[in-house]
Amino acid sequence: MTPDISLPRLMESLRSLGQVGALDGGGVCRLALTDADKAGRDWLVARMEGLGLTVHIDAIGNIWGIRAGHSDTAPVMMGSHIDTVATGGLYDGALGVLAGLEVIATLNAAGVETDLPLAVAAFTNEEGARFAPDMMGSGVHQGALDLSEMLATRATGGTAVVGEELARIGYAGTAVPFTPAAYLELHIEQGPVLEVEGLRIGAVTSVQGIHWTEVTVTGQTNHAGTTPMALRRDAGQVGFAIARAADAIAARLGPPQVATVGVFELSPGLVNVVPGTARLTVDMRNTDGDVLDAATEELLAEAQALAQAAGCTIDIRPLARFAPVVFDAGLVDKVARAAEARQLPTRRMPSGAGHDAQMFAPNCPTAMIFIPSAGGLSHNINEHSDEDDIGAGAQVLCDVVCDLAGAQI
Ligand SMILES: [Zn+2]
Repeated sequence: MTPDISLPRLMESLRSLGQVGALDGGGVCRLALTDADKAGRDWLVARMEGLGLTVHIDAIGNIWGIRAGHSDTAPVMMGSHIDTVATGGLYDGALGVLAGLEVIATLNAAGVETDLPLAVAAFTNEEGARFAPDMMGSGVHQGALDLSEMLATRATGGTAVVGEELARIGYAGTAVPFTPAAYLELHIEQGPVLEVEGLRIGAVTSVQGIHWTEVTVTGQTNHAGTTPMALRRDAGQVGFAIARAADAIAARLGPPQVATVGVFELSPGLVNVVPGTARLTVDMRNTDGDVLDAATEELLAEAQALAQAAGCTIDIRPLARFAPVVFDAGLVDKVARAAEARQLPTRRMPSGAGHDAQMFAPNCPTAMIFIPSAGGLSHNINEHSDEDDIGAGAQVLCDVVCDLAGAQI
């Protein structure tokens, strides 16, 4: 049997890191590559060294600590991120990194050695709140993003540059990234499903694909009293119809298809004027890439037809297109079985949010473990997960890692 993790020790480390960049009233702000992020990194490196890990920093500032195994092969990697949004909680990202350290501490305390080495990683700028794109560090680590391009990235609405900020905070390293033997990430769900269904562990099967589209409809601004209905070119009504169409397509396809119109602006935006322009964004997501492609095509064709019928023109601009990522079926199975072996009610589920794990999925066996988020809240200072669920998630992580790395128990 795998040794039991220590929940008090894990909670102490979550609370201790939670004091770095703590906000009045709860929550944390450790935006990537700020002084608070540096303080979090310094804290993490000290903890890694305290556990006897060999610490490496690469050129995009990713931090990883290695625990040697009997063989000198690629390690089994656990990881996530310690950067946060401006009003972040204590667990988004930090849980995956600190549970990794807890696994190491557990094996150290029990004197358990492994065949394969183990690695615990914290990736730079997962959130993308200060520098876009998000998942920057893991993307560079796994070759999906170009290092020099990322180092030249300027802050959103600011003048700071990634490469200069890394040098300023002392985390412009040189270690060479590698493909691990397997990658596992424990994360809070950041959604309501596990809590609503009364489950403790989610074995994450995939990350859904995302299509963002901006639609601009142009009609004619005119007098609201003197222009007969039949003679209008009302961009606003076309925009409303497109938003209704997006909702109807998602309702017809059913879960996991979702559609959201998050921006809707009318111009000139006056009470007595027929709108001449409507600008809206549509966010569509699905775990099935073919269904997602078809849903987006259907909506855009319908948008064209709606505009044409109303005498309006339409401009369609794709803002983002990310294909779904499917995790390794064998590793997802191991997560589900490890949860069942600990009598933890579990289900397989897709992730609605992006995570560092998706950057590893094309290159090595990869999976994620979810635990419930109270009220489904995240990116919020009131983000919370129950201690028992945190302990359960860390234990499942420990059990699967011991299996993968050939722990000598
Ligand atoms: Zn996260």
